[in-house]
Amino acid sequence: LHIYIQMNILDGKLVSQTLIEKIRNKIAKKQDVFRKPKMAIILIGHNPASETYVKNKIKSAESAGIDAELIRYDEDVTQFELVSKIEELNRDTSCDGMIVQLPLPKQINVNNIISTISPDKDIDGFHPLNFGKMALGQKSMRPATAYGILKLLEYYQIDTKGKHVVVIGRSNIVGKPISIMLGNDFSVGRATVTSCDINTPKSLLNEECQKADIVIVAVGKPCLVTADMIKEGAVVIDVGINKLESGKLVGDCDFGAIAEKASWVTPVPGGVGPMTISGLILNTYEAWKMKNLID
Ligand code: NAD
Repeated sequence: LHIYIQMNILDGKLVSQTLIEKIRNKIAKKQDVFRKPKMAIILIGHNPASETYVKNKIKSAESAGIDAELIRYDEDVTQFELVSKIEELNRDTSCDGMIVQLPLPKQINVNNIISTISPDKDIDGFHPLNFGKMALGQKSMRPATAYGILKLLEYYQIDTKGKHVVVIGRSNIVGKPISIMLGNDFSVGRATVTSCDINTPKSLLNEECQKADIVIVAVGKPCLVTADMIKEGAVVIDVGINKLESGKLVGDCDFGAIAEKASWVTPVPGGVGPMTISGLILNTYEAWKMKNLID
């Protein structure tokens, strides 16, 4: 009988639980003076993936000692209704942070919605002001997934200074912010970052990946990254979430073969997903502290 334990897994679930536990203790210590932190989650329609993400966010918030209010709208909600609700939450002194779960229906202008959220309540870190501050290396709400990835690298003491990082995918919510943050001048940062997207020729993508110390993939295509693209001993962070026809959830990497070759690898599920939620919880905690002038 062979019992094979994979030793090089970056366990996002464990790290997320550890971070949430810490936040829970910090919040509990202030409970006699300050009210509990509160986040609002706006969910439109019944997209099954969004339903799951929102359920997990609420569960994690509650285990951190943060109240989570779910506000639901039908698929045919108007821009006006959503903007009015966000403005109401902006004014609501009992609400520390909010997210509008993406994707949004076609009739809604997503940029306009994100810009309506007060920057100090923008716990997803998507508001242009927060994005700008993040890019400048200033204190801000950080895009939750990128923040979670930094926390994961920090927990496992993976050195990024001077390392060659290849980020595949350049969306505003994941690929672009993680590329910028890893190039910033902080202890988890100071990397040499190559940012690739759909326009990167496959041969160039392969070449860059083969040289990389750290590969981060956030695209949404199963098996986009294969073991031959990875250098022996590289770190591979898989942000992708894809549901196969069988119902199985996979990332963007050929996980099994890459795990044999990489020094560290994130599983899907259980890697970046839970870290995104702890990024959100950390931002909520920061928002609550700022509002109550807690050090
Ligand atoms: P997106 O569709 O907004 O962006 C995808 C990016 O990938 C684009 O920049 C595009 O140019 C690039 N791309 C597409 N095909 C490519 C190719 N063949 N080679 C190189 N680049 C290519 O997606 P997103 O919102 O950034 O999400 C990416 C993936 O991450 C999705 O699977 C999503 O479900 C997942 N995701 C996971 C979390 C998490 O917490 N784990 C959070 C957000 C998104």
